[in-house]
Amino acid sequence: MADTVLIVGAGIAGASLAAALAPHRQVILIEAEDQPGYHSTGRSAAFWHEGYGGPLVAPLTRASKPLLEEGGYLSPRGAIHLARADERIDLVEGVVAEPLDRAALDERLPGLNLQWQRGAFEPGLTDIDVARLHADFLAAARRNGAEVRTRARFASAARSAYGWNVKLVGGEQLSAALLVDAGGAWADEIAEAAGVQPLGLTPKRRTMVQLRVGRSGLRHLPLVVGVDGRFYFKGEGDRTLWLSPHDEIDCAPCDAAPEELDVAIAIDRFQQVVDWPVEAVERRWAGLRTFTPDRVPAIGFDPHEPAFFWCAGQGGFGIQTAPTAAQLGAALILGTGAVPTGVTPATYDPARFFSGS
Ligand SMILES: Cc1cc2nc3c(=O)[nH]c(=O)nc-3n(C[C@H](O)[C@H](O)[C@H](O)COP(=O)(O)OP(=O)(O)OC[C@H]3O[C@@H](n4cnc5c(N)ncnc54)[C@H](O)[C@@H]3O)c2cc1C
Repeated sequence: MADTVLIVGAGIAGASLAAALAPHRQVILIEAEDQPGYHSTGRSAAFWHEGYGGPLVAPLTRASKPLLEEGGYLSPRGAIHLARADERIDLVEGVVAEPLDRAALDERLPGLNLQWQRGAFEPGLTDIDVARLHADFLAAARRNGAEVRTRARFASAARSAYGWNVKLVGGEQLSAALLVDAGGAWADEIAEAAGVQPLGLTPKRRTMVQLRVGRSGLRHLPLVVGVDGRFYFKGEGDRTLWLSPHDEIDCAPCDAAPEELDVAIAIDRFQQVVDWPVEAVERRWAGLRTFTPDRVPAIGFDPHEPAFFWCAGQGGFGIQTAPTAAQLGAALILGTGAVPTGVTPATYDPARFFSGS
């Protein structure tokens, strides 16, 4: 069809863009797995963390907050940043935090190892109800006529007079005017299968562990994060918490699984923070965080192939930025100029990776 937009990948990136486009265009959203959200979207730590990803990501994160609040997707958590005496606590400009001395840290984190001498409390960090947010984007897309197809794996695409002839694995063919690449860790592979030059995306594995510890009252424990970038943990249940060694291990696109060594590293680092006895590893999982070469997302038309649109490189902030990233993507695709406030489209333009080519 003349104005059909085919979006590849139904994680948070593809689902949010489908919801934004469906009132205006015929949208087909294809997902290789049985369930949308099976990969990175279903494996996140579920935070809205204002400065996470740096100053160029923060405008997308900040502009998304009112939209997430409106839908009731956020719940307060707060973050405690921990530093040794010789470490600086550098937060992105504009992030509100109050300094914590050792006595204040002791009150909030009994059993804290002596090496942690300084801290800062950031009250604005919240949890995001990721499953509901993702499901609501998909439902909104469907309500507005989008076709959401699972077990539909993109195989290749060839240019036609009006746009694309797309082949799925299994042989089915689809036509579309515009191809949107929201394939997460696979986004470069998808581009290449459409004859489009890849961006140089790097998927990186991150490990998460759910620990049961010999301490109760943890459910609302703030995110505790080392400024050295070696750990974070947050309360989950009364005696359980989610812990990550903050790892970033280069990994080919795949169904990521945690390595025993990374689980052990996570626990070792946790034990250097607090003296809470580790009783059991209740769950462990891993997911891929996929980065562009400058670690800022790529949202925009490919500079060499105008019928190909990138929505990739969401790194460790794809959930908290999704509402605004989708608004930006829709504004560019529809040509409305309705760019979200505070967002500069050029920052995210994939053309920046091809300057000089
Ligand atoms: C451990 C961990 C913690 C994180 N914590 C946070 C956090 O606290 N806050 C935050 O904002 N973000 C967080 N993130 C990052 C966030 O999860 C990602 O940025 C986001 O989920 C990326 O969404 P996506 O839609 O691009 O990718 P995905 O969810 O991976 O979706 C891409 C989809 O494309 C599909 N696909 C691939 N190839 C094909 C094909 N050929 N045909 C059809 N479909 C295809 C895949 O099956 C997949 O479902 C975290 C990530 C991890 C791993």
